[in-house]
Amino acid sequence: MPRKMPTKKIAMKACKNCGALVPKEANICPVCGSNNFTEDWEGIFVVISTDSEIAKELKFNKKGTYAIKVSGSYIIK
Ligand SMILES: [Zn+2]
Repeated sequence: MPRKMPTKKIAMKACKNCGALVPKEANICPVCGSNNFTEDWEGIFVVISTDSEIAKELKFNKKGTYAIKVSGSYIIK
């Protein structure tokens, strides 16, 4: 039997400034230094290499895990 993957609400919150996903206990965003977080996020986008065309295109200059949508707004446009 295939196991179902949890689709959202894993123990992460999203930075409202840059969309980075951080553990719920984090106080400061490791990507942009903001302390403005929300648990209202959807989707996951992983930046593995900042040299990739897509990372440049989307202006992600740090590796990490980002939410696609934060508080109803798309981080990725
Ligand atoms: Zn941030």
